[in-house]
Amino acid sequence: MTSLLIQNGRVIDPANGRDELADLLIQDGRVAAVGRGLTRAAAEVFDARGKVVAPGFVDLHVHLREPGFESDETIASGTRAAAAGGFTSVVPMANTNPVIDTAAGIKFIQERAGADAAVNVFPIAAVTREQKGESIVEFGDLVQAGAVAFSDDGHAIMNNEIMRRALEYCAMFDVPILDHCGDLNLIGHGVMCEGEVSTRLGLPGIPPVAEAIQVARDIALAEYVGGKVHIQHVSCALSVEFIKRGKERGVAVTAEVTPHHLALTDACLERYDSNFKMSPPLASEEERRALVRGLAEGVIDCIATDHAPHSATQKDKTFDEAPFGVIGSETAFPVVYTELVVGGALTLPQLIEKLSTAPARILKLPKGTLSIGADADVTILDTEWRGAIDESMFRSRSRNTPFLGRQVHGKVAATIVRGRVVYRDGQVLV
Ligand SMILES: [Zn+2]
Repeated sequence: MTSLLIQNGRVIDPANGRDELADLLIQDGRVAAVGRGLTRAAAEVFDARGKVVAPGFVDLHVHLREPGFESDETIASGTRAAAAGGFTSVVPMANTNPVIDTAAGIKFIQERAGADAAVNVFPIAAVTREQKGESIVEFGDLVQAGAVAFSDDGHAIMNNEIMRRALEYCAMFDVPILDHCGDLNLIGHGVMCEGEVSTRLGLPGIPPVAEAIQVARDIALAEYVGGKVHIQHVSCALSVEFIKRGKERGVAVTAEVTPHHLALTDACLERYDSNFKMSPPLASEEERRALVRGLAEGVIDCIATDHAPHSATQKDKTFDEAPFGVIGSETAFPVVYTELVVGGALTLPQLIEKLSTAPARILKLPKGTLSIGADADVTILDTEWRGAIDESMFRSRSRNTPFLGRQVHGKVAATIVRGRVVYRDGQVLV
Protein backbone atom coordinates (compact mmCIF):
# COMPACT_ATOMS: atom_id res chain seq x y z
CA MET A 1 0.00 0.00 0.00
CA THR A 2 1.41 3.42 -0.97
CA SER A 3 0.61 6.36 1.26
CA LEU A 4 1.25 10.08 1.49
CA LEU A 5 0.44 12.31 4.46
CA ILE A 6 0.07 16.02 3.71
CA GLN A 7 0.49 17.72 7.07
CA ASN A 8 -0.59 21.03 8.58
CA GLY A 9 -1.96 22.72 5.48
CA ARG A 10 -5.03 24.93 5.17
CA VAL A 11 -7.37 22.40 3.54
CA ILE A 12 -9.95 24.11 1.32
CA ASP A 13 -12.51 21.73 -0.19
CA PRO A 14 -15.47 23.70 -1.58
CA ALA A 15 -17.41 20.52 -2.40
CA ASN A 16 -17.61 19.75 1.33
CA GLY A 17 -17.62 23.31 2.67
CA ARG A 18 -14.28 22.68 4.35
CA ASP A 19 -11.73 25.42 5.13
CA GLU A 20 -9.52 24.52 8.10
CA LEU A 21 -6.03 23.60 9.18
CA ALA A 22 -5.84 19.84 8.76
CA ASP A 23 -3.86 16.86 7.55
CA LEU A 24 -4.79 14.88 4.47
CA LEU A 25 -3.97 11.19 4.25
CA ILE A 26 -3.77 9.54 0.85
CA GLN A 27 -3.69 5.77 0.49
CA ASP A 28 -3.50 3.86 -2.79
CA GLY A 29 -4.30 6.95 -4.81
CA ARG A 30 -7.41 7.91 -2.88
CA VAL A 31 -8.25 10.32 -0.08
CA ALA A 32 -8.28 8.13 3.05
CA ALA A 33 -8.73 10.70 5.83
CA VAL A 34 -8.91 14.45 6.46
CA GLY A 35 -8.56 15.87 9.96
CA ARG A 36 -6.30 17.27 12.64
CA GLY A 37 -3.35 15.40 14.03
CA LEU A 38 -3.45 12.41 11.70
CA THR A 39 -0.51 10.39 12.94
CA ARG A 40 -0.94 7.18 11.00
CA ALA A 41 2.34 6.09 9.54
CA ALA A 42 2.70 7.08 5.91
CA ALA A 43 5.44 6.12 3.48
CA GLU A 44 5.90 9.77 2.57
CA VAL A 45 5.16 12.99 4.48
CA PHE A 46 4.60 16.37 2.80
CA ASP A 47 4.96 19.39 5.07
CA ALA A 48 2.28 21.84 3.90
CA ARG A 49 2.65 24.29 6.80
CA GLY A 50 1.75 27.78 5.58
CA LYS A 51 0.31 26.39 2.34
CA VAL A 52 -3.16 25.73 0.95
CA VAL A 53 -4.27 22.19 0.13
CA ALA A 54 -6.97 22.17 -2.56
CA PRO A 55 -8.68 19.67 -4.84
CA GLY A 56 -6.71 19.36 -8.08
CA PHE A 57 -7.56 21.97 -10.69
CA VAL A 58 -9.55 20.88 -13.74
CA ASP A 59 -9.01 22.69 -17.06
CA LEU A 60 -11.94 22.22 -19.46
CA HIS A 61 -10.14 23.92 -22.31
CA VAL A 62 -6.61 23.15 -23.50
CA HIS A 63 -4.98 22.54 -26.86
CA LEU A 64 -2.37 19.76 -26.67
CA ARG A 65 -1.81 19.96 -30.47
CA GLU A 66 -1.23 16.20 -30.83
CA PRO A 67 -1.79 14.69 -33.36
CA GLY A 68 -0.57 16.96 -36.12
CA PHE A 69 1.05 20.02 -34.57
CA GLU A 70 3.73 18.47 -32.36
CA SER A 71 6.17 21.33 -32.91
CA ASP A 72 3.76 23.56 -30.92
CA GLU A 73 2.86 21.06 -28.15
CA THR A 74 2.43 17.36 -27.42
CA ILE A 75 0.36 15.40 -24.94
CA ALA A 76 3.59 14.90 -22.96
CA SER A 77 4.64 18.59 -22.91
CA GLY A 78 1.14 20.05 -22.55
CA THR A 79 0.30 17.85 -19.57
CA ARG A 80 3.61 18.83 -17.94
CA ALA A 81 2.64 22.46 -18.41
CA ALA A 82 -0.71 21.59 -16.79
CA ALA A 83 1.05 19.89 -13.86
CA ALA A 84 3.23 22.98 -13.37
CA GLY A 85 0.02 25.04 -13.28
CA GLY A 86 -1.68 22.88 -10.65
CA PHE A 87 -4.05 21.21 -13.11
CA THR A 88 -4.56 17.51 -12.39
CA SER A 89 -7.08 17.02 -15.21
CA VAL A 90 -7.28 18.57 -18.67
CA VAL A 91 -9.75 18.39 -21.55
CA PRO A 92 -7.94 18.73 -24.89
CA MET A 93 -9.82 20.25 -27.80
CA ALA A 94 -10.44 18.24 -30.97
CA ASN A 95 -8.97 20.70 -33.53
CA THR A 96 -5.90 18.58 -34.19
CA ASN A 97 -4.79 17.06 -37.50
CA PRO A 98 -6.61 14.80 -38.04
CA VAL A 99 -9.56 16.24 -36.14
CA ILE A 100 -10.78 13.96 -33.33
CA ASP A 101 -14.15 13.01 -34.82
CA THR A 102 -14.13 9.19 -34.64
CA ALA A 103 -13.84 6.53 -31.94
CA ALA A 104 -10.36 5.74 -33.31
CA GLY A 105 -9.34 9.35 -32.67
CA ILE A 106 -10.54 9.16 -29.07
CA LYS A 107 -8.63 5.89 -28.69
CA PHE A 108 -5.46 7.55 -30.02
CA ILE A 109 -5.70 10.32 -27.39
CA GLN A 110 -6.37 7.77 -24.63
CA GLU A 111 -3.37 5.65 -25.66
CA ARG A 112 -0.99 8.58 -25.99
CA ALA A 113 -2.20 9.95 -22.66
CA GLY A 114 -1.78 6.54 -21.05
CA ALA A 115 1.84 6.42 -22.22
CA ASP A 116 2.92 10.08 -21.94
CA ALA A 117 0.62 12.24 -19.84
CA ALA A 118 1.63 13.75 -16.51
CA VAL A 119 -2.01 14.43 -15.53
CA ASN A 120 -5.46 12.99 -16.30
CA VAL A 121 -6.66 13.60 -19.85
CA PHE A 122 -10.38 13.50 -20.66
CA PRO A 123 -10.83 13.55 -24.44
CA ILE A 124 -13.62 15.26 -26.28
CA ALA A 125 -14.71 14.91 -29.89
CA ALA A 126 -15.67 17.37 -32.60
CA VAL A 127 -19.35 18.23 -33.13
CA THR A 128 -19.06 18.10 -36.93
CA ARG A 129 -16.96 15.89 -39.20
CA GLU A 130 -13.50 17.41 -39.68
CA GLN A 131 -14.95 20.46 -37.90
CA LYS A 132 -16.29 21.64 -41.23
CA GLY A 133 -19.65 22.52 -39.76
CA GLU A 134 -21.48 20.52 -42.45
CA SER A 135 -22.48 17.15 -40.95
CA ILE A 136 -22.62 15.88 -37.40
CA VAL A 137 -20.45 13.11 -35.94
CA GLU A 138 -21.59 9.72 -34.57
CA PHE A 139 -22.31 10.94 -31.04
CA GLY A 140 -23.21 7.51 -29.63
CA ASP A 141 -20.02 5.80 -30.84
CA LEU A 142 -17.91 8.66 -29.52
CA VAL A 143 -19.54 8.71 -26.08
CA GLN A 144 -19.05 4.96 -25.88
CA ALA A 145 -15.38 5.40 -26.82
CA GLY A 146 -14.93 7.84 -23.93
CA ALA A 147 -15.67 11.34 -25.24
CA VAL A 148 -16.83 13.39 -22.24
CA ALA A 149 -18.25 16.24 -24.38
CA PHE A 150 -18.26 17.64 -27.92
CA SER A 151 -16.74 20.81 -29.31
CA ASP A 152 -15.77 22.35 -32.63
CA ASP A 153 -13.53 24.77 -30.71
CA GLY A 154 -11.31 26.75 -33.00
CA HIS A 155 -14.33 27.08 -35.27
CA ALA A 156 -17.79 28.53 -34.82
CA ILE A 157 -20.78 26.39 -35.78
CA MET A 158 -22.55 28.68 -38.23
CA ASN A 159 -25.41 26.40 -39.31
CA ASN A 160 -28.26 26.69 -36.79
CA GLU A 161 -29.88 23.47 -37.97
CA ILE A 162 -26.61 21.55 -37.37
CA MET A 163 -26.38 23.08 -33.88
CA ARG A 164 -29.96 22.08 -33.17
CA ARG A 165 -29.40 18.43 -34.24
CA ALA A 166 -26.14 18.27 -32.30
CA LEU A 167 -27.81 19.53 -29.12
CA GLU A 168 -30.63 17.00 -29.58
CA TYR A 169 -28.21 14.07 -29.91
CA CYS A 170 -26.09 15.25 -27.00
CA ALA A 171 -29.21 15.52 -24.85
CA MET A 172 -29.84 11.79 -25.52
CA PHE A 173 -26.43 10.99 -24.07
CA ASP A 174 -26.58 13.71 -21.40
CA VAL A 175 -23.31 15.34 -22.47
CA PRO A 176 -22.83 19.04 -23.22
CA ILE A 177 -21.65 20.81 -26.33
CA LEU A 178 -18.82 23.21 -25.53
CA ASP A 179 -19.22 26.04 -28.00
CA HIS A 180 -16.75 28.56 -29.37
CA CYS A 181 -19.15 31.36 -30.28
CA GLY A 182 -18.42 33.95 -32.94
CA ASP A 183 -20.43 34.75 -36.06
CA LEU A 184 -17.96 34.42 -38.94
CA ASN A 185 -19.64 37.04 -41.09
CA LEU A 186 -19.45 39.62 -38.31
CA ILE A 187 -15.86 38.61 -37.52
CA GLY A 188 -14.78 38.99 -41.14
CA HIS A 189 -11.04 39.67 -41.26
CA GLY A 190 -11.00 41.18 -37.77
CA VAL A 191 -7.90 40.60 -35.65
CA MET A 192 -8.79 42.45 -32.43
CA CYS A 193 -11.84 43.79 -30.61
CA GLU A 194 -13.65 46.56 -32.47
CA GLY A 195 -13.57 49.85 -30.57
CA GLU A 196 -11.58 52.93 -29.78
CA VAL A 197 -8.25 51.08 -29.66
CA SER A 198 -8.74 49.21 -32.97
CA THR A 199 -9.61 52.49 -34.67
CA ARG A 200 -6.48 54.15 -33.26
CA LEU A 201 -4.22 51.23 -34.21
CA GLY A 202 -5.80 50.91 -37.64
CA LEU A 203 -6.45 47.18 -37.22
CA PRO A 204 -9.66 45.48 -38.43
CA GLY A 205 -12.03 44.94 -35.49
CA ILE A 206 -14.33 42.15 -34.32
CA PRO A 207 -17.52 43.49 -32.66
CA PRO A 208 -18.30 41.79 -29.31
CA VAL A 209 -21.82 41.13 -30.61
CA ALA A 210 -20.29 38.53 -32.98
CA GLU A 211 -19.89 36.32 -29.91
CA ALA A 212 -23.05 37.34 -28.08
CA ILE A 213 -25.34 36.63 -31.03
CA GLN A 214 -24.24 32.97 -31.08
CA VAL A 215 -24.45 32.73 -27.29
CA ALA A 216 -28.10 33.83 -27.58
CA ARG A 217 -28.65 31.33 -30.42
CA ASP A 218 -27.15 28.46 -28.41
CA ILE A 219 -29.26 29.25 -25.34
CA ALA A 220 -32.44 29.51 -27.42
CA LEU A 221 -31.74 26.16 -29.10
CA ALA A 222 -30.72 24.44 -25.85
CA GLU A 223 -34.00 25.59 -24.31
CA TYR A 224 -36.00 24.45 -27.33
CA VAL A 225 -34.55 20.92 -27.57
CA GLY A 226 -33.65 20.42 -23.91
CA GLY A 227 -29.89 20.13 -24.51
CA LYS A 228 -26.88 21.25 -22.50
CA VAL A 229 -24.57 23.95 -23.80
CA HIS A 230 -21.37 25.27 -22.30
CA ILE A 231 -20.15 28.63 -23.61
CA GLN A 232 -16.38 28.69 -24.04
CA HIS A 233 -14.14 31.67 -23.26
CA VAL A 234 -16.88 34.27 -22.68
CA SER A 235 -15.42 37.67 -23.53
CA CYS A 236 -18.08 40.38 -23.31
CA ALA A 237 -20.83 41.85 -21.14
CA LEU A 238 -23.65 41.07 -23.56
CA SER A 239 -22.78 37.35 -23.54
CA VAL A 240 -22.80 37.42 -19.72
CA GLU A 241 -26.24 39.05 -19.84
CA PHE A 242 -27.63 36.37 -22.19
CA ILE A 243 -26.20 33.56 -20.02
CA LYS A 244 -27.72 35.14 -16.92
CA ARG A 245 -31.16 35.29 -18.56
CA GLY A 246 -30.81 31.74 -19.86
CA LYS A 247 -30.04 30.47 -16.37
CA GLU A 248 -33.01 32.40 -14.98
CA ARG A 249 -35.20 30.64 -17.54
CA GLY A 250 -33.88 27.28 -16.40
CA VAL A 251 -31.81 26.52 -19.51
CA ALA A 252 -28.93 24.08 -19.00
CA VAL A 253 -26.26 26.64 -19.92
CA THR A 254 -22.85 26.92 -18.26
CA ALA A 255 -19.87 29.11 -19.11
CA GLU A 256 -16.13 29.55 -18.70
CA VAL A 257 -13.84 32.59 -18.78
CA THR A 258 -10.07 32.64 -19.33
CA PRO A 259 -7.44 34.24 -17.08
CA HIS A 260 -6.37 36.54 -19.94
CA HIS A 261 -9.88 37.91 -20.45
CA LEU A 262 -10.13 38.48 -16.68
CA ALA A 263 -6.76 40.23 -16.41
CA LEU A 264 -6.08 42.03 -19.71
CA THR A 265 -7.77 44.50 -22.07
CA ASP A 266 -7.34 45.67 -25.66
CA ALA A 267 -5.16 48.50 -24.34
CA CYS A 268 -2.43 45.80 -24.18
CA LEU A 269 -2.31 45.77 -27.99
CA GLU A 270 -0.69 49.19 -28.31
CA ARG A 271 2.67 47.55 -29.08
CA TYR A 272 1.24 45.22 -31.75
CA ASP A 273 2.63 42.23 -29.80
CA SER A 274 1.09 39.02 -31.21
CA ASN A 275 1.32 37.42 -27.75
CA PHE A 276 -1.82 39.45 -26.99
CA LYS A 277 -3.68 38.15 -30.04
CA MET A 278 -6.32 35.55 -29.20
CA SER A 279 -9.81 34.45 -30.13
CA PRO A 280 -12.08 35.87 -28.89
CA PRO A 281 -9.99 39.05 -28.66
CA LEU A 282 -9.24 41.09 -25.53
CA ALA A 283 -11.93 43.73 -25.11
CA SER A 284 -12.37 47.02 -23.25
CA GLU A 285 -11.98 47.56 -19.50
CA GLU A 286 -15.77 47.78 -19.21
CA GLU A 287 -16.18 44.32 -20.78
CA ARG A 288 -13.42 42.92 -18.54
CA ARG A 289 -15.19 44.19 -15.44
CA ALA A 290 -18.43 42.56 -16.59
CA LEU A 291 -16.57 39.22 -16.84
CA VAL A 292 -15.16 39.55 -13.31
CA ARG A 293 -18.64 40.44 -12.02
CA GLY A 294 -20.24 37.57 -13.98
CA LEU A 295 -17.75 35.13 -12.45
CA ALA A 296 -18.24 36.50 -8.92
CA GLU A 297 -22.04 36.30 -9.25
CA GLY A 298 -21.94 32.73 -10.58
CA VAL A 299 -23.30 33.58 -14.04
CA ILE A 300 -19.95 32.36 -15.38
CA ASP A 301 -19.35 28.99 -13.71
CA CYS A 302 -15.64 28.39 -14.02
CA ILE A 303 -12.19 29.44 -15.21
CA ALA A 304 -10.55 27.59 -18.13
CA THR A 305 -7.23 28.53 -19.70
CA ASP A 306 -7.71 27.99 -23.47
CA HIS A 307 -3.99 27.08 -23.39
CA ALA A 308 -3.21 27.51 -27.11
CA PRO A 309 0.48 26.94 -27.91
CA HIS A 310 2.04 28.28 -31.09
CA SER A 311 5.76 28.01 -31.79
CA ALA A 312 7.83 31.19 -32.13
CA THR A 313 8.05 30.79 -35.91
CA GLN A 314 4.25 30.89 -36.06
CA LYS A 315 3.78 33.82 -33.68
CA ASP A 316 6.76 35.82 -34.97
CA LYS A 317 4.75 37.45 -37.71
CA THR A 318 3.03 40.80 -38.07
CA PHE A 319 0.02 41.22 -35.80
CA ASP A 320 -2.33 40.74 -38.77
CA GLU A 321 -0.71 37.49 -39.90
CA ALA A 322 0.09 35.80 -36.56
CA PRO A 323 -2.27 33.00 -35.44
CA PHE A 324 -4.78 33.55 -32.61
CA GLY A 325 -4.02 32.01 -29.21
CA VAL A 326 -1.84 32.22 -26.11
CA ILE A 327 -0.57 29.63 -23.63
CA GLY A 328 -2.06 29.71 -20.14
CA SER A 329 -1.58 26.53 -18.12
CA GLU A 330 1.44 27.61 -16.05
CA THR A 331 0.32 31.20 -15.42
CA ALA A 332 -3.38 30.68 -14.65
CA PHE A 333 -3.26 30.43 -10.86
CA PRO A 334 -0.90 33.36 -10.11
CA VAL A 335 -2.76 35.57 -12.60
CA VAL A 336 -6.28 34.88 -11.29
CA TYR A 337 -5.21 34.76 -7.64
CA THR A 338 -3.64 38.20 -8.01
CA GLU A 339 -6.44 39.66 -10.10
CA LEU A 340 -9.43 38.20 -8.26
CA VAL A 341 -8.45 37.30 -4.69
CA VAL A 342 -5.83 39.97 -3.98
CA GLY A 343 -8.02 42.28 -6.07
CA GLY A 344 -10.97 41.55 -3.76
CA ALA A 345 -13.53 40.13 -6.23
CA LEU A 346 -13.46 36.53 -4.92
CA THR A 347 -12.43 34.71 -1.76
CA LEU A 348 -9.79 31.99 -2.07
CA PRO A 349 -12.36 29.19 -1.51
CA GLN A 350 -14.51 30.72 -4.27
CA LEU A 351 -11.54 30.83 -6.63
CA ILE A 352 -10.66 27.21 -5.87
CA GLU A 353 -14.26 26.22 -6.58
CA LYS A 354 -14.03 27.89 -10.00
CA LEU A 355 -10.79 26.08 -10.83
CA SER A 356 -11.71 22.59 -9.60
CA THR A 357 -15.18 21.75 -8.31
CA ALA A 358 -17.20 23.72 -10.88
CA PRO A 359 -15.43 22.51 -14.03
CA ALA A 360 -15.58 18.91 -12.79
CA ARG A 361 -19.33 19.29 -12.19
CA ILE A 362 -19.96 20.70 -15.70
CA LEU A 363 -18.55 17.56 -17.35
CA LYS A 364 -19.63 15.23 -14.50
CA LEU A 365 -16.00 14.20 -13.98
CA PRO A 366 -15.34 12.35 -10.70
CA LYS A 367 -12.89 15.12 -9.69
CA GLY A 368 -12.79 18.47 -7.90
CA THR A 369 -13.28 17.17 -4.36
CA LEU A 370 -11.27 15.94 -1.38
CA SER A 371 -14.10 13.67 -0.14
CA ILE A 372 -13.04 10.40 1.50
CA GLY A 373 -12.63 7.80 -1.23
CA ALA A 374 -12.20 10.36 -4.03
CA ASP A 375 -9.21 10.19 -6.39
CA ALA A 376 -6.35 11.90 -4.57
CA ASP A 377 -5.86 14.71 -7.08
CA VAL A 378 -4.50 17.58 -5.01
CA THR A 379 -3.03 21.01 -5.71
CA ILE A 380 -0.87 22.67 -3.05
CA LEU A 381 -0.63 26.44 -3.25
CA ASP A 382 1.82 28.95 -1.85
CA THR A 383 -0.28 32.12 -1.59
CA GLU A 384 2.47 34.04 0.21
CA TRP A 385 4.87 33.94 -2.72
CA ARG A 386 5.37 37.13 -4.72
CA GLY A 387 7.44 37.69 -7.80
CA ALA A 388 7.46 38.05 -11.55
CA ILE A 389 6.37 35.45 -14.08
CA ASP A 390 9.57 34.22 -15.68
CA GLU A 391 10.86 31.66 -18.15
CA SER A 392 11.59 29.08 -15.46
CA MET A 393 7.86 28.51 -14.87
CA PHE A 394 7.11 27.14 -18.33
CA ARG A 395 6.97 23.50 -19.42
CA SER A 396 5.04 24.05 -22.65
CA ARG A 397 6.86 23.66 -25.97
CA SER A 398 5.71 27.17 -26.84
CA ARG A 399 6.26 30.56 -25.17
CA ASN A 400 3.41 32.63 -26.58
CA THR A 401 2.39 34.13 -23.25
CA PRO A 402 1.14 37.66 -22.63
CA PHE A 403 2.19 37.43 -18.96
CA LEU A 404 6.00 37.26 -19.07
CA GLY A 405 7.39 39.73 -16.52
CA ARG A 406 4.03 40.34 -14.84
CA GLN A 407 4.20 40.84 -11.07
CA VAL A 408 2.01 38.30 -9.29
CA HIS A 409 1.13 36.89 -5.90
CA GLY A 410 0.89 33.16 -5.33
CA LYS A 411 2.16 30.08 -7.09
CA VAL A 412 1.59 26.36 -7.30
CA ALA A 413 3.86 24.55 -4.84
CA ALA A 414 2.95 20.98 -5.77
CA THR A 415 0.59 18.94 -7.90
CA ILE A 416 -0.49 15.44 -6.95
CA VAL A 417 -2.30 13.07 -9.31
CA ARG A 418 -3.91 9.99 -7.75
CA GLY A 419 -1.57 10.20 -4.81
CA ARG A 420 1.60 10.68 -6.85
CA VAL A 421 3.54 13.95 -6.66
CA VAL A 422 3.97 14.95 -10.32
CA TYR A 423 5.20 18.51 -9.72
CA ARG A 424 6.96 20.07 -6.75
CA ASP A 425 9.01 23.25 -6.21
CA GLY A 426 9.47 23.96 -9.89
CA GLN A 427 10.29 20.39 -10.89
CA VAL A 428 8.11 18.06 -12.94
CA LEU A 429 8.66 14.62 -11.44
CA VAL A 430 7.40 12.33 -14.20
ZN1 LIG B 1 -12.00 28.75 -28.90
